[in-house]
Amino acid sequence: MANDNHGPHGRLPEAFASDVQIENVSKSYRLPNGTDMLALDRFSLSVKAGEIVSLIGPSGCGKSTLLRTIAGLERPTTGKVSVAGKPIDGPSAARGFMFQDPSLFPWLNVRHNIQAGLVARGVLHGRRAEVEEFLNVVGLAPFAELHPHQLSGGMAQRAALARALINDPQVLLLDEPLGALDMFTRMRMQDEVLRLWRLRHVTMLLVTHDIDEAIYMSDRIVVMSPAPGRVERIITVPLDRPRHRNDARFFDLRAEILEELHFAGD
Ligand code: ADP
Ligand code: MG
Repeated sequence: MANDNHGPHGRLPEAFASDVQIENVSKSYRLPNGTDMLALDRFSLSVKAGEIVSLIGPSGCGKSTLLRTIAGLERPTTGKVSVAGKPIDGPSAARGFMFQDPSLFPWLNVRHNIQAGLVARGVLHGRRAEVEEFLNVVGLAPFAELHPHQLSGGMAQRAALARALINDPQVLLLDEPLGALDMFTRMRMQDEVLRLWRLRHVTMLLVTHDIDEAIYMSDRIVVMSPAPGRVERIITVPLDRPRHRNDARFFDLRAEILEELHFAGD
């Protein structure tokens, strides 16, 4: 497991979290038969700098579309997204992305995967020490020479997390990043992500199907409607951090969200 000797005064440079404004964003896709399919319908959300917001909703309701739009990989059909007051006009290292599939470069070892973004931007030379720092922070220093196929799922996700965070993103977009992990690894990784969030103070949008994960991680939970995705409800998580998974209020919130998603049963 990662060592924890970095605390709030760790040597990693301070990242600057930014607010994210999503205003009336609709997105439709042109299907091969020529019809348009509405994936997002006038979606609005204001995320504060440094906030963690989870998005939950049925499959196909536009969660990935929304994250890709914030990443600048898609353009909204109407509406706009801005980060720190600036409209998004394409992908940027200021917005880190992490997917369920860690999508590491298979031909690079862990260290080279983590520093790939620095190499691409031509800034590795001045930041080699930081690469070693990040290897330590995510507990992968002993495994720096290993290649992706030699890593467990949790290790691969820690490498992907370090790779996203080393670019000092103002916003980290997480699309079911822990969905493929077993329950125990997943809970450890949730703590890992929270620890890095405290360290870097990054704004996070997290897509998850796991209600407990949403409650454990986020300041607010956005429940989305079935397709086309709209904001159905926003639930503020009133629990202090660090949170306790067996807190009675945790169970109450879970019941409330299940009810909202119509999965509470009779
Ligand atoms: P979610 O992540 O909530 O499961 P997605 O954002 O992946 O949902 O997809 C929302 C809807 O948009 C789905 O019906 C999906 O098939 C459609 N969609 C997503 N990407 C594309 C695309 N590039 N072209 C056409 N349709 C797409
Ligand atoms: Mg998705």
